[in-house]
Amino acid sequence: MNLFATHEVLNQSPPFEDVNLFTTDRVLIEAVNREGGGSAAQRLAVFGEICGSAAAFERGRRANENPPRLRPFDSKGRRLDVVEFHPAYHECMAISMAEGLHGSAWEHLAEPGAKPRPGANVVRSAGCYMAVQMEAGHQCPITMTNASVPTLLLQPEIAAQWLPKILAREYDGSFSPLGAKRGATIGMGMTEKQGGTDVRANTTRAVPAGSGGPGAEYVVTGHKWFMSAPMCDAFLVLAQAPKGLSCLLLPRFLPDGSVNALRLQRLKDKLGNRSNASCEVEFQSAHAWLIGEEGRGVPNIIEMVTGTRLDCAVASAGLMRLILANAIHHCRHRTVFQRKLVDQPLMSQVLADLALDAEAATALAFRLSRSFDRASDRHAGAWRRLMTPVTKYWVCKLAPAFAYEAMECLGGNGYVEEGVAARVYREVPLNAIWEGSGNVMALDLLRVLQREPETVEVVIDDLRAAASGDAQLKAHFARVEGLLHEPRLLEQRGRALIEALATLAAGTVLRAHAPAFVADAFIATRLSGSVRQTYGQGLDRADTRAMIERALPA
Ligand SMILES: Cc1cc2nc3c(=O)[nH]c(=O)nc-3n(C[C@H](O)[C@H](O)[C@H](O)COP(=O)(O)OP(=O)(O)OC[C@H]3O[C@@H](n4cnc5c(N)ncnc54)[C@H](O)[C@@H]3O)c2cc1C
Repeated sequence: MNLFATHEVLNQSPPFEDVNLFTTDRVLIEAVNREGGGSAAQRLAVFGEICGSAAAFERGRRANENPPRLRPFDSKGRRLDVVEFHPAYHECMAISMAEGLHGSAWEHLAEPGAKPRPGANVVRSAGCYMAVQMEAGHQCPITMTNASVPTLLLQPEIAAQWLPKILAREYDGSFSPLGAKRGATIGMGMTEKQGGTDVRANTTRAVPAGSGGPGAEYVVTGHKWFMSAPMCDAFLVLAQAPKGLSCLLLPRFLPDGSVNALRLQRLKDKLGNRSNASCEVEFQSAHAWLIGEEGRGVPNIIEMVTGTRLDCAVASAGLMRLILANAIHHCRHRTVFQRKLVDQPLMSQVLADLALDAEAATALAFRLSRSFDRASDRHAGAWRRLMTPVTKYWVCKLAPAFAYEAMECLGGNGYVEEGVAARVYREVPLNAIWEGSGNVMALDLLRVLQREPETVEVVIDDLRAAASGDAQLKAHFARVEGLLHEPRLLEQRGRALIEALATLAAGTVLRAHAPAFVADAFIATRLSGSVRQTYGQGLDRADTRAMIERALPA
């Protein structure tokens, strides 16, 4: 007998681990099948087991409890400008890169003349959705590397040099020149102290080293206020060249093998995203190579930004699913007042209500992923242009309030750092802030409305048709049209419009593909009904048991 034991641990839920993040996620499986990635289901099930293992969650914990450290100098005062990560971070990178999450959608480029693989973006998104549940911070360089490819392709000889290393499914965390590396990652440097949204205010200068022009070498002097994953092998940066703001590829090593002049000033002390390093950096006559024409910096980097916006939505949906699954799992095991929490009417309303947003977020994120696969199709191309800001805005903005409510379902355990809930809660606001924060997404939507009426027409026609069989969807569609036809007040109403479009789109996808008990409840509570500011309302007649079972099979 242990004389020091005062009690037995009772009524605590077992750890939520060793779960297959694919096969237990019915909503994800259906979204992947529906949007064209079904042929990869077997592979995704293998990856789901890897990401949901106890070892994976433990890796995620260790990577975040041991944040990266900047080493600006060696012991003798020589510059190093390197960041050291915990081994758990490197393991996460190796797992995600072996799965190809940093570039699998571009692998056809390795074979001359090959076409993009059908469903490649949907499959990659499914991988990212699960990898982010293992650990969110390392997805930053994974996302940026994948998104850098279309911008690099604007300068074919530079793309030819970098793509073989980008497409390699191997993580090489060493600080060495490209030629010595087995695989490469790419970051992005746009934000400066005086402006992140307004990159035209960038003061960093790029001076031609010779005659200048596309693909030529430039000397870059200035700073970036946020530059994440500084151990990437190169960065797409914006700087003022003689003919205006331009996009350049700035590598960590120069072709002669010497270290390029990036001086890492300090690492940000962040609310969340702690496993990932985000630095302030100075470029002291660093060398970089121009991508495209001088003065075309924003249009040239915008493809990269568009790709990262998709990933923000996918990652937020993945984190919503993780924290929801934890909440349901806990409530199935925890007894309060002689009854399991999941069976208490108030709690089942909350869990089912959360499940509705998680399913809608996943549905929209994967519908958007499909539009990246089929961008040459008129309808998909229009959806990609218009619905990228809409989806990024809505899904990323849902996540923080969602994470808070799901955390509360776990009671005090939710607020403690040892569980995943606190980490998810600190992580999710980031997806809304970076890669274009809320108002910037609303402004991007307005830009499409003003400059690309045909794009708007295609999406609106599709939504009208999808809404036509449901009276509540039809009424909501009329409200969206009303907002669209009031151009005078459009900027003031940007957020109302973007949210209305998101809920309309989600409602149409759920109506067409989800069980009626999900679609009915989503449409009744999100598209009509009384005003609500918190979760757990309006589902008194809904089949909350079925909704919870769908979200996480018992
Ligand atoms: C952890 C982290 C990592 C990051 N990593 C990188 C990175 O790797 N590379 C990089 O380049 N940047 C990075 N960023 C920077 C990030 O992209 C910017 O912070 C973001 O774009 C916002 O820019 P800002 O901070 O200058 O804010 P501002 O541009 O000043 O915006 C402040 C607020 O004003 C709103 N706003 C802006 N314009 C308007 C308008 N016209 N009307 C109404 N509202 C408006 C914005 O939506 C925002 O809410 C990172 C940021 C964080 C937090």
